[in-house]
This record gives sequence, C-alpha cells and structure tokens, in this order.
Amino acid sequence: MKTTMKRAVHIDFHTMPKIDDFGANYGPVDLAEMLADAHVTYVNIFARCNIGYSYYPTKLGTVYPGITRDYLGEAIAELHKRGIGVTAYINGGINHELMNHHQEFIKITKDGRLYDDVDKATNHYFRMPCFNSGYREYLFDEIREVMEKEPDGIFVDCMIPKPCYCSNCLRKMAEKGIDPNDDAAAFKFQVDTLYEVFSQIHAIVTPKMRLYINSKSNDWFSEFEGHIELECLPTYSWGYDFFPAQAPYYRNLAPGKELVYMTGAMVTGWGDFSGYKPDAALECDVYDAMMYGYAPSVGDLMHPRDGLNRPLYKQVGKMYRYVESMEPWTEGSEALAEAAILRNKVTSENVLNPVTASDKGAARMFCEMRINYDVVDEDMSFDGYKLLLLPDNIRITEKLKAKLEAFQGAIISTGTSIADGGVWDYITDIAPDTNTHGFFAWGDQVYGQKYMGVKMKSEYSVSDYVEPYFNTHWDGFHGYFYVPPKSPKGCSAVAKKGNRAHVCFRLFAAYMEYGALFHKEVIETLINEFLPERLVMTNELPTSSRVTLRKGTKGELLQIKVSVPEHWANRGVINEHTVLPAGRKISVMGEYASVCSLPDETPVKSWIENGRTVIELPEITGFLPLLLKK
Ligand SMILES: [Zn+2]
Repeated sequence: MKTTMKRAVHIDFHTMPKIDDFGANYGPVDLAEMLADAHVTYVNIFARCNIGYSYYPTKLGTVYPGITRDYLGEAIAELHKRGIGVTAYINGGINHELMNHHQEFIKITKDGRLYDDVDKATNHYFRMPCFNSGYREYLFDEIREVMEKEPDGIFVDCMIPKPCYCSNCLRKMAEKGIDPNDDAAAFKFQVDTLYEVFSQIHAIVTPKMRLYINSKSNDWFSEFEGHIELECLPTYSWGYDFFPAQAPYYRNLAPGKELVYMTGAMVTGWGDFSGYKPDAALECDVYDAMMYGYAPSVGDLMHPRDGLNRPLYKQVGKMYRYVESMEPWTEGSEALAEAAILRNKVTSENVLNPVTASDKGAARMFCEMRINYDVVDEDMSFDGYKLLLLPDNIRITEKLKAKLEAFQGAIISTGTSIADGGVWDYITDIAPDTNTHGFFAWGDQVYGQKYMGVKMKSEYSVSDYVEPYFNTHWDGFHGYFYVPPKSPKGCSAVAKKGNRAHVCFRLFAAYMEYGALFHKEVIETLINEFLPERLVMTNELPTSSRVTLRKGTKGELLQIKVSVPEHWANRGVINEHTVLPAGRKISVMGEYASVCSLPDETPVKSWIENGRTVIELPEITGFLPLLLKK
C-alpha cells in the first residue's frame, strides 16, 4: 500500500499489567471504522509498548497478559481495507518487561546502578536497554517479526543517547581509546553507537517500508528517516515557541521528505488520561501545521478497555474534513522565505536539546514582524535570502565566515556570533563580556539585561555600551543586587556599517525570557532599514497573531492565525479562539488581481497600492487562509 501522511493519528498505547478487561469494549474493526470516519489517512498503532507487551502473537517477547487475538495484524488488515496507512510502533528505547528477564541488557549508570535516580512511579526512563548488549540483535529480530505483519512502516520510539558503563560498553570504549571518566566522550560514544544502530535498522526496514526513528534529534539522524516527524506537544514540555523555531529548519534539513507535525490531544501530554484539550487548542496545532506546510498528526492515548475516545474522534473528523477541504490549495505549496535565521549544526553535546532559547527568540521576533523566514545551518544554501540573522551564539567556522563574505544581502548578528575581520571588519577589540549586567543607549533611554555576549569597539557605533556601576557581588557587608547603569567607556553596543550590523548582547535569549519591547526595537529598527519592503506587511494586526505566505499551485496562500495561547503558570493555554474584527488591513508584495478566502472561495476586498496588494480582512475567528491570484 502506498500512502501519505496527509492526516495522521499517533496512538500512544502503553498498557500496565493488571488491566483485567483489556479490549472488552472495542476491537480492530471499531478502531479502523472510527479512524476512517474521522478522515484519517495514516495511523501509528501499537506493535509493542514501552511496558514491554506485544499486541500480537510474538515468538520473541511477551504478549499482553490474557489477550488471545492478534490486535496488530487484525488492525492492519482492517485499516488497509479502508485505505488507511499504518505504521507499527515499537519502543526501541524502553522495554521494561524484557529488562525484567534480561538484566544483562540494562544500561549501567556511572555509579554502577541499573536504575536512574528518578521517580520510578512517574518516569519511564529509569531503566534503559544498552545497544552494545544482546538487546541490539533482539530489537532487530523484533522489528523483522513486526514487519511480517506487513504494515506500511515501522516507528521506533525513544532512541535516546544516554551513557552506559556496562562491561560491553567499557570494553568497546577501551578499544577506541575513550576514557570512561570523560563524561562528554562517554556520551558521544553512545551517540555514535546509536548512529550505527540507526543505520542497521535503516538497512532492515527501508528497502521494504517507511521508517521513522524518534530520537528527540532528527537534526543528527535525519538521513535515516523516511519522513520527518516533528514531535511538539505545545502544552507539554515543548511550549508554543518550539514549533516555529524548528519547523522551518527541518524542511531544509530533509528536502523532499514528507513533513509531519505530531502534536497531542491530551490537555497536558503523554500518559495523561485526565482529559483532552479544548477544540480551539487542537485546531491551532493543525493551523500551525498548515501554515508551515506540515501534515498534522494528532497524538492520542487509547483506553485499553474502551478503545478510541468517540468525542475526540468526532473533533478530529471535523478538523480533518477541514484540512482535506484545503488540500486542493495546500498540496504542493512551498514556503516563501525572504530571510533566514542561522542555526548551529547539532553536535553530540546538544543532540538532546538542539533548539536554544536564542533560536526560539529569533523565530518569535520574526513571526511578530511578519517576516517569512527559513532556518538554515552553514551547510545549506543562502541563495535567495535578502537578510541573514545570526542569533546570539552561532559558531563562526571558516566555512561560515567565507559564505557570509560572499553573501550580498544584509547580515544582522548578535552576542558571540562574531569573529575578527570578514563581515565584521568594522568592529575591533572583540572580547568576551564578563560583566553581570550590560546596558545600551537607545533613543533617549538606557536599557539593559543580563545576557552578555562580547565587548567591542567600532567607529560605526550607533549605540554606546553603558557600563554598570559594579557587577553583582558580595563584599562582606552587602550583596550588590541593585545594579544601575553608569556611563559609557568607549565600547559599542550596536555597530552598523552598510547592510551589516552587530549587537553585542545575546538579545534573542533575553527577549525570550523577558519579552522586553526595547530589545525587539533594536532588531526591528535594523530590519526596517535593511529590509524595508517585505513580502507581508501590516501594522493593524496584533503582534501575537501569526501570518505565513506560501507559494501554491493555484496562487499564493496567505494564512493568518489570530488565536493565541494565554500564559498560565508555566504553560500556554488556548481555551477559546480569538476573534479579530473585520476591517484590518494587511499587504502582500506584488499585484494580485483577486483575493478570496478558502476553502469557500468567497471574494475578499483588495486593491493595489505602490506595487503591493492591500487586503481588507473580514472578521477572523481563530484562523483564515486566503488565496491570492495574479
Ligand atoms: Zn552498555
């Protein structure tokens, strides 16, 4: 079966022992029917869960106690009958039941324990398998066994690098000359081990079917993935700023591969049976997927006795009928990007957390300024961009330095994203800033923060660096907590020559933490000068709204989302859609003969002004896609 993941569902299904009525109220037919009714085209279902139970008759593992039918095989057959593609889920990184019988497969911590010191009642990562043990071949055999059920793909979850000090790993490290006392080297050894395991799984699966390995870092392992599945449950640990920072990167990291945004329906995240989030919140995740050209995938839990939740799939059906109605315009559409945010290539050090606060702050600021942006690393092409942003802590390699010198567009850099000479030839005396506070003169005010970058001098300075009276310290009598700005001493905070500018502070990390408008004003001032005419412009929409412009096969696709998360303790929460009154104006570069809203193709008022198409928006509840035709 040849399938795409246009409208997907990921069923997270991990069943504890002692559920004595497993499957009492549902079967594979019910599951397949409910997914078909919800217009789902692809589903990830359970072959073997992280508890370690298989849901089919296995020769290798442990079938869930008491079940006698082949849930996996029957479900695949029923789903295929209805034209729905199926990926079979195996948790490759956690298998507690197997580890209960094979202690020799378990990773050993640096201090010699089998279990990590975490709350074992709530954290499933307390005991993990070692891929340098016999577990590696066991997993390969398990994958082969599941492939015999003929799903369309294999999903291997939780393949997360973690140090191990078992005798196998110690022996292999010794062979490679790795000192086990060197934590970074011991971790990198496990990253390299996983790379080898991924390539072996790839060789087993890919010739026959789709493979996706969930590692928390597609950045490192993307070459082995059949598609890119960006896992981001915004109400859980990811937050609402992760997806806009990562989505434009993956489309460049893996060009041509299907892109899937895996969100979650649960009010918080995985494993939470307390209830689903409101329709508006789930709809916003689907809108985000559409705005960045991703297929939506709704992550769900399934009750082991009752099966899929009927009200949820009624909502999924409503959303997916809408997504389907938009497909004539969204399919084949491509991102339009006038600017790019640079990203450091992932290393073994940050493989588990490659997206920084600076990456998120930069993406957020660009979203607020309506800039259509890509996220690229130094290996990707810079062609076609009018502006490059190097936020806060981009490593300036010789390769990047040379590419920047050849780049004709504007370059804005901040923090330690700087080097001697090259595109920074207007800056001298570059040194790490060791102050605890730094300030800058801007207009008739002095502003500051604590995200230090470099000290620098420049005859092209447009903002003085203002020194603090002192750094925070303790002198035996006082803790010097109150640190006001004092005066400049010859350093520059912002220097600008031609279409290049550098800000000495790590402004994007600061913006991500404080949301201070004066930090954005520095960047906005520079961008307004370097890139005065942008693809999309408006000053009549709230900055919290989001707009993307994509090139479609039938015209340009302008998508506007006005619903926003409300800040709630440490989470973003969307309980209802925001309504934007009619009459707000937005303009798009170029002269378009007509504008209509989708999918109903209702004409929307527009006119031409100075080479731009000005659109007077109707009332928007949550989200509005528009088609612009020449
Ligand atoms: Zn080991």
